Amino acid sequence: MKVALLDLKAQYRSIKNELDEALIRVAESQYFILGPEVTKLEKNMAEYLGCKYALGVSSGTDALLIALMALDIKPGDEVIVPTYSFFATAGVVARLNATPVFVDIDPVTFNIDAADVEKHVTAKTKAIVPVHLYGQSADMDGIMAVAKKHNLAVVEDGAQAIGVQYKDGRRVGTIGSIGCFSFFPSKNLGCFGDGGLVVTNDDTLAERLRIMRVHGGKPKYYHKVIGGNFRIDEIQSAVLNVKLPHLEKWSAKRRENAKLYTELFVKAGLAEAEGIQVFDANNKVLLPKPVYKADGSNELVNYHIYNQYIIRVENRDALKAYLIEKEIGVEIYYPVPFHRQECFTYLNEKDENFPHSNLAAESTLALPIYPELTTEQIQYVVECIAEFVKKA
Ligand SMILES: *Cc1c(COP(=O)(O)O)cnc(C)c1O
Repeated sequence: MKVALLDLKAQYRSIKNELDEALIRVAESQYFILGPEVTKLEKNMAEYLGCKYALGVSSGTDALLIALMALDIKPGDEVIVPTYSFFATAGVVARLNATPVFVDIDPVTFNIDAADVEKHVTAKTKAIVPVHLYGQSADMDGIMAVAKKHNLAVVEDGAQAIGVQYKDGRRVGTIGSIGCFSFFPSKNLGCFGDGGLVVTNDDTLAERLRIMRVHGGKPKYYHKVIGGNFRIDEIQSAVLNVKLPHLEKWSAKRRENAKLYTELFVKAGLAEAEGIQVFDANNKVLLPKPVYKADGSNELVNYHIYNQYIIRVENRDALKAYLIEKEIGVEIYYPVPFHRQECFTYLNEKDENFPHSNLAAESTLALPIYPELTTEQIQYVVECIAEFVKKA
């Protein structure tokens, strides 16, 4: 049996007519830049996320970059980021000649360790960039408390977490100063190329973002500030306007798939429960931990939308090779934390300060989790992992 890591064709087939119609509508209008589809997307997104302003931009990376530019992050400023994330989270900071300051992660959620953030605040610190990695919310209470105390901006990297509700019901991205999202095809809400979104509730920041998106000109051709071309296309917006109404259903399906994985791993004797951190006789596979309502109702808060379903295993590289041989698509997100990247050696960060990120980089593996997966496919993945563990 073949199981792809992600099968975008399955999603396309399910809404092909609507999508094709939308593409032709744009073609016939010959309106490509900042037109009615973008306006519609921004209105839909602000409504869905529950925020005052949403602006379509050219990618998730550009969403982060324009957010930092709107906050006037300058050379020499320090910006606190988790050391374990997709490269863009730290890359955008360095591109503005500001200094990324790395913080280790929480070993259960893989998100920035909020308790460790404050120790890294200095007189130069201007912002914190928590990442809601894999589709699970970071500890925003802890982060917002530090930000408030030290008067820091918070830019939420929600690229993998669109629609995730924090425990108080707010959607991530709307809690900090600016929220950033990506519509890269592999995200839970993906377009037909590159696209992104910035959101805020702040009038001044919204105006700055809007101006920065078109080179900083206001009125056109008169520049008080330097921006860039950070626009999203009409075609991408039209695709997203078709897909957005399906997002909740797709994310719910990912959660169902995750639940099935957990059940099967436990049944196969490979794992005892979710969120356990030690490898031992009962735990060959460490499972992701979704978060339940605090009232003890065993009801899942919409905390985890499983953009990625991440397990941890001791002999990860061997398992990866084994599964690929079995035609199962798996991937390592991410093999090298920022403090170990060659391009960041100038920061002189000490490897031993990031034990949880190092362990994650060495032991995590993403399994197929996309909404259209069948029960049989998930069973096959768990069977193959069980086979591998037995042989080892
Ligand atoms: C995908 C991603 C980005 C970048 O988004 P692009 O649209 O690919 O530029 C940034 N941060 C995280 C955590 C991501 O997963």
